Amino acid sequence: MKYDRTFNFSAGPAMMPESVLEEIRDEMMNYRGSGMCVMEMSHRSKVFQQIIDEAEADLRALMHIPDNYKVLFIQGGGTLQFAMVPMNLMKHGKACYIETGTWSKKAIAEAKKYGEVQIVASSADKNFSYIPDCSDLPIPDDCDYVYICENETINGTTWHKLPNTKGHVLVSDQSSMFLSRPCNVADYGLIWAGVQKNVGPAGMSVVIIREDLIRDDLDPKTPIYMMYKTHADNGSMYNTPNCWAIYCCGKVFKYLRNLGGLEEMERRNKAKAQVIYDFLDKSKLFRGAVVPQDRSLMNIPFVTGDKDMDAAVVAASKEAGFDNLKGHKSVGGLRASVYNAMPIEGAQALVAFLEKFEQEHK
Ligand SMILES: *Cc1c(COP(=O)(O)O)cnc(C)c1O
Repeated sequence: MKYDRTFNFSAGPAMMPESVLEEIRDEMMNYRGSGMCVMEMSHRSKVFQQIIDEAEADLRALMHIPDNYKVLFIQGGGTLQFAMVPMNLMKHGKACYIETGTWSKKAIAEAKKYGEVQIVASSADKNFSYIPDCSDLPIPDDCDYVYICENETINGTTWHKLPNTKGHVLVSDQSSMFLSRPCNVADYGLIWAGVQKNVGPAGMSVVIIREDLIRDDLDPKTPIYMMYKTHADNGSMYNTPNCWAIYCCGKVFKYLRNLGGLEEMERRNKAKAQVIYDFLDKSKLFRGAVVPQDRSLMNIPFVTGDKDMDAAVVAASKEAGFDNLKGHKSVGGLRASVYNAMPIEGAQALVAFLEKFEQEHK
C-alpha cells in the first residue's frame, strides 16, 4: 500500500481521503503562490476569504442547501452544540428530545440546564439497539423543537425515516453521518455536525440553520460566541475561525462533488457496509448489535457474546495491523467505523480477518 497507511476504523477523528491529504501536503509550504501555509494566514486576507467562500459554496451545492438557510463554521466541536441549540432555540423554554443512545443522552443532559426537556421516545429499554417508532409522538404545541441524533456513533443506529414532528422544528445532530448520503435540508430547522467524524480535522462544527430561527432576543448573559446570530452576521468570522479546519473541509467538499456528490457517496457507503453486515449475518461467532432495519452505514458495533472472546479478537486485530476496533464499553465487543473515506478494501480486509479468526476458533 502507498505510504504504508493503516485501515483506521476509529470512530473519530477518522480517515480522510488520500488525495485530499496529498493536496494539503503539496500546498503546505506555499499555498497557491501566497508564500505561506494556510495555518499562517490572516483570516482577514483576500486569499482566506476565497477559501471560506468556496468551502461554503461547495457545501451548498453538495447538499442543495436552500437560500433561506445559513451555513456557519463554529469552533468548539460537537459538545458546544449541545448547549448552543437550547440556548438559541428554546424560546418558550420547552423542547422534545428522542433518546437513542450515548450522544442523544449527552444532548438531553445539557439541554436540561436551559429549560424543560421532554423525552418523547426512547430505546433505552433494549440498550439503544433500535430506533423507536416516531410516527405519532406526544409533542406539546408550545414545544420549541424536536431533537434527534441522526446516527448514534457508539450504539450504531441510524434514522432511515425522520420522526413526525407534527409541524415543529426538527434539530439533528448529524456528526457521524454528515455527507454520507443525500439529505433534504428543508426537512430540518437546524442540522449540525462535528466535522472530525466524516469530513476533516477536529475542532469545528458545521451548523446549517434556517434564517427565521436566528434570534436577537436571547438572554443578555448569553456569551457572544454562543449566539448563532454572531456567526451568521459575520460570515463565521466574528473572531478568528478554525481556518485550518475550514480549509481541509473545503477540500473534502470539493472531493465529494468531483466524485459524483452524495448519491454516489451513499452508493459506495452502502456497498461497503454491506460487506461487513453480510458477514455478520452469516457468522456463527459474531453478531451485529443493532436490529437490521436501523443499522448505521457508518458505525458497526458487533459482539461474540463472550467478553474474553471479544478481547481476543481485539488483540488479534491489532496484531493483524487494524486500528481502533475495540467497541465502546457501553456496548462491548468491537466496532468498525467505516466513514466516507474508508475504502471498500478496508471492509473486505476486515471481513477476511474475521473469517479467519472464526475458522481458528471453532
Ligand atoms: C463525536 C460526537 C459528538 C461530540 O463531538 P465532540 O466534537 O467530541 O464534542 C456529538 N455527537 C455525535 C453523534 C458524535 O459522534
